[in-house]
Order: sequence, then C-alpha cells, then structure tokens
Amino acid sequence: MEHYDLVVIGAGPGGYVAAIRASQLGLKAAVVEKDKPGGVCLNWGCIPSKAILTSAEMYEDIKESERFGIKVQGLSCDYDQVIKRSREVSGRLAKGVEFLLKKNKIPLLQGTGRVEGAHQVSITADGQNAQDAQMVEADRIMIATGSKERTLPGLEIDGDQIITSYEALTDTEIPESILIVGGGAIGCEFAYIYSVFGSRVTVVEMESQLLPGVDAEIAQALEKSFKKKGIEILTGTKFHSIEKFSGRLDVRLDSNNDLKERTANKVLVAVGRVPLSTDLGLEELGIEPGRGGYIPVNEQFQTSCESIYAIGDINGPPLLAHAASEEGVAAVECMVGQREKGVDPLRIPACIYCQPQIAVIGLSEKQAIEQGYEIKVGKFPFQASGKALAAGHDEGLVKLIVDKQYGEILGCHIIGHGATDLIAEVGLARTLEATTAELTGTVHAHPTLSEAIMEAALSAEGRSINF
Ligand code: FAD
Repeated sequence: MEHYDLVVIGAGPGGYVAAIRASQLGLKAAVVEKDKPGGVCLNWGCIPSKAILTSAEMYEDIKESERFGIKVQGLSCDYDQVIKRSREVSGRLAKGVEFLLKKNKIPLLQGTGRVEGAHQVSITADGQNAQDAQMVEADRIMIATGSKERTLPGLEIDGDQIITSYEALTDTEIPESILIVGGGAIGCEFAYIYSVFGSRVTVVEMESQLLPGVDAEIAQALEKSFKKKGIEILTGTKFHSIEKFSGRLDVRLDSNNDLKERTANKVLVAVGRVPLSTDLGLEELGIEPGRGGYIPVNEQFQTSCESIYAIGDINGPPLLAHAASEEGVAAVECMVGQREKGVDPLRIPACIYCQPQIAVIGLSEKQAIEQGYEIKVGKFPFQASGKALAAGHDEGLVKLIVDKQYGEILGCHIIGHGATDLIAEVGLARTLEATTAELTGTVHAHPTLSEAIMEAALSAEGRSINF
C-alpha cells in the first residue's frame, strides 16, 4: 500500500494549495478528488461567476457609453456566449491546477475519498465497487471536501424553474423575471447579473438588511443602488410557499406575518452552503460534526483525531476561497512546526463582486462598539475622488473604523467600483498593525481610487483635505 506523509481529500482552493505547500516543505503528499481539480471555487463558484459578472459589467458600461461620447448601435447580448466563455475560463484554470499538482510531483488520485482509520484512506473511482477501492496510508489526513448549496424545505430544486447558483452558472436563459431567495453575497451577485441582462429581479432577505453581517451603512448603500437599477429588495421577508405552473411560479412570502405574493419565471435559491462532512468515515473515528454539520477543529486545524485535519468550507465560516487556501497552508505549516495557528479571521477580507462592489475586512462600526472599543470613523465618498469621477464610477464610499487611542485600523468597509482590489491595502495595514498615521504618511498616486483609502484615514484623523 502506498504511504504518504499527507493525503488531502478534496482538490479545491483549500486542498490543492495545502498539498503544494506540503510538497514545498518536503512532505510526500497526494490529493484525492472525485470531480475536477479546483473545487467549487474554480468550477462552480468564484471564477465562473466572476467571468459572467465581467460580461454584465461590460454590458452595463456599453449601455451607458453615450455619456462617455461613444455611440454604439445594435447592442445586444448573446448570453450563450457569456456562459460559454465562463465555462472556458473555469476549464482553463482547472487544467492549471492539474499542471501545478504535476509540477509539484503530487499525485491526483481520482475518486471518492473516505477515511478508513486514523491513517488510511480509500479511493473509490466512478462506477467502482467500494470493496475494490484503492487504499493508501498516510501519517496525516486532511479533509478539504468543501460545501454544497443549502436548500429550503418546500423549495425543492428542479434545475429548471427553481435553481441554485450551480444551475445558474450553466443556464443560458435570461428569464423575464426572477426571484432570488437570499440577499447574501451570491444572491446579490446574481441579482446584479440578471438585472443587467434584462430580468425583472426581486431579492428576498429574511434579515433586516442585504448582506447580513456587513456594516449596515454599506449594506444600505447597496440596497439604494440596487433599487436605482430597478431591483426590488424585500428585507425582513421569508420564503413561505410556492406554487408551480408551466413557465410561472407563484411565490408567497412572509414579511412579519404579512403575506405577500410575487410571480416570477424562475426562483434562484441562495440561502448559504452546507458542509460535505457526511460519508467520510469521520463518525467511526469519533469525529462528530458540530453546529451546522461543520467539522470542529483546534487552532492547528486538527479534529478530535490528531492525525486528521479539516480546512476550508468544511470547518465553517468564513466560507471563502482565500480563507480555505490560507487555512490549508497554515495547517501544513503547523504540522511541520513552522507555525502555531492560522490567521486571525479579522484579517481575512470578504468581497462581493456585483456593481457597486463591496469589500470588507475587520470589525464593523457596530461590532467595534459592542467589543468595547472607543472608535473614530473616517469616511471618503467616491464622489470626491478625481479618478472615480473621471472613470464614471463615483458611487460609494470608503469607511474606516479606527481605534481612538492608537489610531489602529480595526476595520474597513468599501462600496464602489474597484472596492475588491482596494481592500488589499487595508489588509496589509492590519497585518502590520498599521495606524492611520502610516496610511496618511503613505504617498498614494494621483489620480487613483486608492487615494480614497488615504482620504478616509485623513478623515479619521479629523484632517480631511479633499472632502
Ligand atoms: P471546495 O472548493 O468546495 O472544494 C472541495 C473539493 O472536494 C471539491 O472539488 C469536491 O469535488 C471534492 N470532494 C468533496 N468530497 C469528496 C470526497 N469524498 N472525495 C474526493 N473529493 C471530494 N469565495 C471567494 O473567496 N470569492 C468569491 O468570489 C466566491 N464566489 C463564490 C460564488 C459562488 C457561486 C459560490 C457557490 C461560492 C463562491 N465562493 C467564493 C466560495 C468558495 O467557492 C468556497 O469558499 C471555496 O471553494 C471553498 O474551498 P474548499 O477548498 O474548502 O472547498
């Protein structure tokens, strides 16, 4: 039986990155994958959705091109091509992961992995009987099996009229109307896509704001922007029941016991994810799933069985690709004694790629106050940014949450064009425990959107210049 130092189950952004880091550190590693390498992120998540979003942004920009002095005649959308391109981008990146594994001499063991003991994994290929499964031995096993779409009782996915993001990523039809259940990151990204391509969109969110957990001011700004685009937003509203007809869905919604009805051609269910933690043989080893089915781990990402690690979506929020990769790297570095724990979750940014984009890191204003910090808030609207005005994207703002005494950056919340790239500067500032003094003391090129970060820091220090 082949023996490895580390066998990783799941080749998503958590698993394949962990295996590469292990190989760099001299460990003999293998990855088990039942589908294509790259996981949800490359195949059914981050990348294909961002490819479609790029087409949506381009379409929206061209529709508004006259104000930039560009006249376009006969503009139309070929959504088949939008989807085709998105699948091509995913396919190319999945192949890239295969290449990276090869380059790092990491075997990709194709099949469904199952833990058969503290140091054994079985791999059952498609169509193979479990008793014929290949067995491998490993000093350590890493579970990186990720998550799948959560569904709601009474809202069964039929893949045609009632869909999740999975179907939406290959569905070539733009419905006349769509109701999106769930106003989180995925719900908002698809609301933007469908609205740009011409659907009448309703977003239903049971919490009191879109993007629950994001700073309320930023979420309100998104709601305002979406409403301007004609998207109907129903917050504080839950799915109640549905009646299906040919080509039409009648959806009843519950808004504080007030029943509302909406008719749509499609319903997209975007109510979160559930971990793929069952059928992995974990219970037999005494590893019980925790709340929501996530696998509990310690600071080194070890489960209750010390040779078995769990990283990425499978161990719980934040359910983000870069968090999964970071956890994979951290877990491997902990194994070889290079590190004691993973990164503080407050140093992990979260981004939403609709327009306007949203990017957040660290504490929100409310969280900072609840945690007892005395804070200052610095703000800068993109309306006052020369670059944003020149680019024609002057919607949104940067909001910095700053510790009053030392000026440490506790959080940053951005809404606006380019937000998802701008957040990196604040990420670095938080890693370096930088203060507003360092942000304001850093010369930012003019005209750039990044000046808005510096201006927000100036605002926190009470010495705004351009606003
Ligand atoms: P996954 O990517 O889910 O990979 C797990 C892998 O394990 C899969 O390939 C699966 O086939 C395999 N597997 C499962 N069980 C077994 C088994 N028993 N044997 C063998 N293989 C198995 N995150 C971001 O950071 N940015 C974004 O913009 C973003 N956009 C998203 C958009 C959508 C529509 C969705 C659905 C998600 C998005 N995410 C985004 C979330 C991101 O995709 C996940 O957080 C990330 O993929 C988690 O990585 P992972 O390695 O933990 O798991």
